[in-house]
Amino acid sequence: MNMDYRIRAKRTFEVAATGGVCWGVDRAIKGVTKLAQLAAERRNPLPAVLGRLVHNDNSIKKLRAMGVNTIAEAREANGGVVVVTAHGRDPKDISILKQNGFTVLDMTCPIVKDQHSRALMLRELGRKIILVGTLEPHPEIEGTKGVLNGDVIVLDSPFSVDFITFNPNTPIGVIAQTTFDPEIVHEVVVKLKKRFRDVLYFPTVCNDIVLKLQELRERGRMADTVIVVSDQGSANGRHLAETARRMAKTVIFILDHHELTPDMLLETRRIFVTAAASTLDPDIEDVVQKIRNLGWKERKRKNKILTKEKRAQASARQAAGRP
Ligand code: SF4
Repeated sequence: MNMDYRIRAKRTFEVAATGGVCWGVDRAIKGVTKLAQLAAERRNPLPAVLGRLVHNDNSIKKLRAMGVNTIAEAREANGGVVVVTAHGRDPKDISILKQNGFTVLDMTCPIVKDQHSRALMLRELGRKIILVGTLEPHPEIEGTKGVLNGDVIVLDSPFSVDFITFNPNTPIGVIAQTTFDPEIVHEVVVKLKKRFRDVLYFPTVCNDIVLKLQELRERGRMADTVIVVSDQGSANGRHLAETARRMAKTVIFILDHHELTPDMLLETRRIFVTAAASTLDPDIEDVVQKIRNLGWKERKRKNKILTKEKRAQASARQAAGRP
């Protein structure tokens, strides 16, 4: 047996069962696609999406090919339906759209809506609200701030707890951005509990995100390289990459198969492939096919119980407030 063959024979890869598009994004893409088809059949103006429907350039290009434009402000709409994305939106923006005669298709993910109602519940209980999430501009954060009329503090790490000036007796209510890293949320809550006497936390991180990170930690530890298929704009994609780096893995962060080159895998024996909640299945499949063509063999798991349908059912249960 020649040496080169033996080395090649050891090269394997595994694909995450939890990787890729989530229930809320899938629901939003299907809703907009259906609406665009109906508008085209009836020769009505095509819908426009207020903000990026998903954090994924390839998906946005596909929508544009159907004639669905992404607009930054409602006044750019051409008279068709205006779509609110899965991230949610400030309710005041939605009211203004309706007052100005636009028909609105609100595709806010029900899990994000659940986060809004929990935040309002905490406020009704007289608590100061802390939202654990990114400090970078993000539509979900803006939407949740809008729901709370801006009466909320956003923290992205346990260190920022030191900068809160409330009295230690102030009742605190905590929620989290649905796509934020649950470990960071936990660290923030622990620190808040040390600073304040009365802290009530509603866990609002999406189960789909928790499962993606959990599977990466469990299955990815056997790989030397983790490939994250994601747009750079996806918070979830960046968290997957950061988690893999903390596990001391080589991380290859790519939008699609075009960005994966053989030299990136020169030192690699075992690969774990995962993908963000906004990455569509064909983009993952193309990457997997390229890895196969480069000579890696897929390690199939016998009990791949987390099918897409089961993940969707779990998300629907979370949105309905059921375990
Ligand atoms: S809350 Fe979860 S299911 Fe909903 S859009 Fe965000 S990641 Fe997807």
